Amino acid sequence: MSTPSRRDILVSAAFATALGLDRTLAIVQPAAAQTAAAPSPTFHRYKVGDIEVTALYDGIWRKPHDPAFIKNASVDETKEALAKANLPNEFVPIPLTVIVLKIAGKLVMVDAGSGVGQWQPTATSLPASMQAAGIDPKGIKTILLSHFHPDHIFGLMEKGTNAPIYPDAEIIVNAAEYQWWTEEGRVEKLPEARKGLGQRIQAVFPKWKNFKLVQPGTEVVAGVRMVNAPGHTPGHAAYLAGSGNQQLMISNDVAYVPALLAPHPEWQGAYDQDGPTAVATRRALLDQVIADQTMLCGAHFPFPGTGRIAKDGNAYTFTPVTI
Ligand SMILES: [Zn+2]
Repeated sequence: MSTPSRRDILVSAAFATALGLDRTLAIVQPAAAQTAAAPSPTFHRYKVGDIEVTALYDGIWRKPHDPAFIKNASVDETKEALAKANLPNEFVPIPLTVIVLKIAGKLVMVDAGSGVGQWQPTATSLPASMQAAGIDPKGIKTILLSHFHPDHIFGLMEKGTNAPIYPDAEIIVNAAEYQWWTEEGRVEKLPEARKGLGQRIQAVFPKWKNFKLVQPGTEVVAGVRMVNAPGHTPGHAAYLAGSGNQQLMISNDVAYVPALLAPHPEWQGAYDQDGPTAVATRRALLDQVIADQTMLCGAHFPFPGTGRIAKDGNAYTFTPVTI
């Protein structure tokens, strides 16, 4: 395990000052955070103005290398990018973190995690992390969804029965995302690997009465705005949470695994349904975060999911930091 260099700490302190924070940010130890099944502790709290953010660790997908993973990069280039980020590269480490915002006493969860036993056997920690953080799932009254991929929505449904886990919560989603997945004839048009997902969405979501479809730009809860971020899926959304002079861009899957996509924002992965649109969205959102000096988090960033992004020529550098 390495320790942050003095330069890292100074850079980090300057970044904290730029964000209006009064304390030093700690550099995350990425290798340690991504090889273990779950880092300890499994939750982390920080503040964005008056908003309390709790990052909850769900787990990690140690994805085997596959030449089809990134259309315009080889497995060797992928391994090289991971190594440069000081990450293990015998697999692609895809950790998963869910955040819960506490705004004026109300709990707002962003995405619902992968559902125990429904995605990867190494990503089952969300309920335990929630309990460790003292969050009662029944107390979550609003869920903001980024998109309808399994690692973000299977946590809404019980395994086997598809019974809703949050029947009393209002579930807010970009109307474009909901309509695309539930459109008549959609399942037949999906690639083979996505047909099961499409069938499950179409069998379950239209029966639920607690979905609220909104347009990007809408203030979905006080201080939180939906940001249009298409490409990863047709209606993928980010969320910008603001309080006082501080803002947090909840980027979800826009930068996916930033060890790969910060230095190579042009890489088009199998995970992006529309590669060129995803690349354009990624550049626009990261440029906005840099220009506005916004804090940044992402679902697949190293736990606790927060990081610092900076421009590096035509690409970016990403440093995982704990706020
Ligand atoms: Zn994801």
